[in-house]
Amino acid sequence: MLTKTHLLTPGPTPLPERVRLVMARDMVHHRTPAFASLMREVQAGLQVLFDTDQVILPLASSGTGAMAAAVCSLFQPGEKVLVVEGGKFGERWTKICRVHGVVPVILSVPWGQAVSPAAVAEALDRDADISGVLIQHAETSTGVQHPLEAVATVTRTRPVLLVADGVSAVSITPCPMNRWGIDCLLTGSQKGLMLPPGLALISLSPRAWSKAETIPVRNFYFDLLKERSFCLRGESAFTLPVGLVAGLAESLRMFGEIGLPAIHRKQWALTMLVRAGVSALGLDLFVREHFAWGVTSILLPGGIDSGPLLARAAERYGVVMAAGQDAYKERMIRIGHMGWLDYSDLLAGLHALAGSFIFCGGYLGAGNYLEQALDAYWTALDEGPPAA
Ligand SMILES: *Cc1c(COP(=O)(O)O)cnc(C)c1O
Repeated sequence: MLTKTHLLTPGPTPLPERVRLVMARDMVHHRTPAFASLMREVQAGLQVLFDTDQVILPLASSGTGAMAAAVCSLFQPGEKVLVVEGGKFGERWTKICRVHGVVPVILSVPWGQAVSPAAVAEALDRDADISGVLIQHAETSTGVQHPLEAVATVTRTRPVLLVADGVSAVSITPCPMNRWGIDCLLTGSQKGLMLPPGLALISLSPRAWSKAETIPVRNFYFDLLKERSFCLRGESAFTLPVGLVAGLAESLRMFGEIGLPAIHRKQWALTMLVRAGVSALGLDLFVREHFAWGVTSILLPGGIDSGPLLARAAERYGVVMAAGQDAYKERMIRIGHMGWLDYSDLLAGLHALAGSFIFCGGYLGAGNYLEQALDAYWTALDEGPPAA
């Protein structure tokens, strides 16, 4: 290999050496005082990350496991929930609901656009039987960030639980449970948390716990009430991926050292870097407003397919990026910028994008896209994200 691999996919993401070394250690038994103290440390770090004083339950699953756990722990068969469907992961909420007999009322949003909080309010006013809103904070399939804080102002004054899939948002962009009034926030290990796949995390607000306490158990494995009782004494109902929990403790230590606002600021600056570079190349950003801070989606012009472009980027430049999904599979490139990476990885990414685009027959005008990207990065890092 002539180059390092630059993993610029929206999950899994690159890992820091510190985390990898911790995960290389021998096993700790999961019902010992040593593991209980690790769990307590992890809880404290996660409470800062989630902005809650409730427990954050680790589950041995990918992120989708936590989505399923949320649906069957918070809603009964026959209950109606509003699903914001603006991409692949919104559609996943709908599918999970149907499997569990929960009735999805779909609020459809065109791919590439964010939901309007007023549309959420209207849908809830139209049907008083709706008892939850299921949404993504960042819809990774399109690169959109839904206005979760504004949606929370709609739900928190109503008897409606706000359930947010924060898989590509937690530790990437602000999503404070308490401050905004999110009732259920969940994430997975392989996106912003700088860990391998395999661990999901989920937390409920006090009012979501009150609701959960009234719901008969419908899933033996994903039983959040049972998990809560174990978690409160530093255990889990079943065997956790011990190595991932140890890795999580280390990544949370790193977050603690850097500080959450600085991490969000860096994510914002990386987003500005990619967006400026892509625009300077004359390529089309798929999302104009309300873009995510961990993934950027680019529309390719007709005649250039994502498949050969991505293959060239990986082979020649060592840069691994992702295609679009469904109707956008061939027409879109998604550059992930979450996990343990920095501006240098993304400069390599832009360079690979430009070179592979030309290799595939595309025409590019701009010569100074790397300078423009760097300018945007340092300016954004100094100025920080716009105040919400
Ligand atoms: C990655 C992701 C998931 C979870 O996918 P898994 O493969 O189950 O980990 C869920 N929602 C969003 C928004 C994601 O980006």
